Amino acid sequence: MPSERQHRREIASFGKMLHERGYVAAMDGNLSVRLDERRILATPTAMSKSMMRPGDMVIVDLEGRHISGRRAVSSEIAMHLLIYKLRPDVQGIVHAHPPTATGFAAAGIALNQPLVCEVVIGLGSIPLAKYGTPGTPELTDALEPLIPQFDAILMSNHGVVTYADTLHHAYMKMETVEHFSQIALVTHLLGRQQPLGHEELEKLMLARSKYQGSKSAAPLPLAVGCDGAGNHREAARGESEDSSPESTPKSRRAIARHR
Ligand SMILES: [Zn+2]
Repeated sequence: MPSERQHRREIASFGKMLHERGYVAAMDGNLSVRLDERRILATPTAMSKSMMRPGDMVIVDLEGRHISGRRAVSSEIAMHLLIYKLRPDVQGIVHAHPPTATGFAAAGIALNQPLVCEVVIGLGSIPLAKYGTPGTPELTDALEPLIPQFDAILMSNHGVVTYADTLHHAYMKMETVEHFSQIALVTHLLGRQQPLGHEELEKLMLARSKYQGSKSAAPLPLAVGCDGAGNHREAARGESEDSSPESTPKSRRAIARHR
């Protein structure tokens, strides 16, 4: 188990990486780690993610009450607290505004097409949550139905949130989302998409169940009801915690297609 000191250093270093890759500008973005069953270590508000030092982080309880730290906590802490509440398996969260994925979120297009095998194994699909004003319950209300089922969510007209069993894995998921959104954008530019078929998806789900790197408790469903623009309507409900293909609900196996 990493110490609190290591977690502080880790948040500062992934914050720097978010900034270096252009996933955040100015004082955008926030990161957090679950220290124990009652304390969350999070980034402070109003600070560039490229300039944070380990001592700048803030500790709050699960209600968001300040426990320690010189600074005020991120204004998006309610989103982090909701994810920790709904997902006991999650230990780290990253929120950023990577330009291509945020472009999809601003265009109202979910990243729910099974176009790349590695993304299907690692993330399933990436749904689009409806818009909510940052820092208000509107935002958490929009994310709430999606959090139990997915590890990465596009936030309409805003950005992306990813979470995992470690902050490191949450950060990796953010990179995967942005990289995948660039690939999806190229398919849009080419005017053609060739989603993986039912059989290929079955095999990938089998590979995922054997895949050591996948420790997510989310069913990562592939089926997301979408309208003509690929907008999220209703996520397929996983009926089982087991990710083996035998127990995969039919709805999760279906492929969402653009009309
Ligand atoms: Zn944001």
